[in-house]
Amino acid sequence: MNFQQIFGASPETEASAPGRVNLLGEHTDYNDGFVLPTAIPQRTTVQLGVSKDGQHHFYSVELDERVSISEGHHTPSGFASYIFGCVRLLEREGYTVPSINLHVTSSVPIGSGLSSSAALEVATLRGLRSLLNIDIDDVRIAQLAQQAEIQYSGVQCGIMDQMASSLADTEHLLFLDTRSLARQVIPFPSGAEVVVIDSGVPRTLAGSGYNQRRAECEEAAHLLRVKALRDITNPQAAEDLPESIRRRARHVITEDNRVLEALQGVSAERFGELMNASHASLRDDYEVSVPALDTLVGMLQETPGVFGARLTGAGFGGACVALVAAGKGEAISRDVMERYMRSGYPGRILVPEVS
Ligand code: ADP
Ligand code: MG
Repeated sequence: MNFQQIFGASPETEASAPGRVNLLGEHTDYNDGFVLPTAIPQRTTVQLGVSKDGQHHFYSVELDERVSISEGHHTPSGFASYIFGCVRLLEREGYTVPSINLHVTSSVPIGSGLSSSAALEVATLRGLRSLLNIDIDDVRIAQLAQQAEIQYSGVQCGIMDQMASSLADTEHLLFLDTRSLARQVIPFPSGAEVVVIDSGVPRTLAGSGYNQRRAECEEAAHLLRVKALRDITNPQAAEDLPESIRRRARHVITEDNRVLEALQGVSAERFGELMNASHASLRDDYEVSVPALDTLVGMLQETPGVFGARLTGAGFGGACVALVAAGKGEAISRDVMERYMRSGYPGRILVPEVS
């Protein structure tokens, strides 16, 4: 149902924001390190208008769910918490936000690691920026979006997703230093495009595994007497650490180095090698892969036209990303998907958009 059908009026304004996929730099953002995401073609769009009854009303087409919030109401749960968090954070910045009607629709797959949550937050903040005619830049939008997710939806996320959704486009890679927020927009390796395939394995252990890895990295940084592992550049430094955390630190240090090498501008072949090395490191040193991800990554890596592939996101399930020859993304992903399905997993092609 469209805005008019839900709210009985026309929207006053509209805004959108993309999902994202991270090509290199996994599990580095909570170590103050470096990441290299890009935007994906799928986007989340919000339409907004001022509500006449003093209540906020949010509607999602994908969930077919409507939530109404009156003044003084406690924080809602579910999808409304992301939108409500954005409203509240703008108010805390000193802006007066009226009661709004907000309609969401999206082509970003929800819960597949392509950051539908950041796309929803950034689209909402862009929509409010337009509705209220306020002067707030894209970096501030990303920071408010991250705080909305942490404080109102209870997700301890880094800043990568929101920065990518707010600042990246599909034609470039966005290099980001997650400590300083220094960033650089760089071209894709020439002659290459992105493929993303969902393994069909839910990210069940992701929560507990993620927290454990975070703790191990903090311990390693403490033992190495640095603020965060990003301050170490020589992987040799990890060799003196206790066995339990040595490999965790080695992954983070080598992964940061891979991002920095890619930042120099490398060929598609070399970029692919860095992605393959990243997967091996995530599998062997960081131990966040699972058999289905290894199978899918292996099938991608052995396919002609693929420069490199790795798991993307936290791991323990979820999606894989590959860099492939430009113009071949659809054919390669269909071919790999056919073989992968025969192995018994319910995979799904996420990028490029195929019908
Ligand atoms: P992702 O990897 O897609 O960001 P998350 O678990 O971080 O996964 O965020 C998914 C949540 O974001 C959904 O459960 C929902 O609450 C919210 N969300 C994202 N997109 C939409 C949408 N189009 N409509 C309603 N809620 C959405
Ligand atoms: Mg998310």
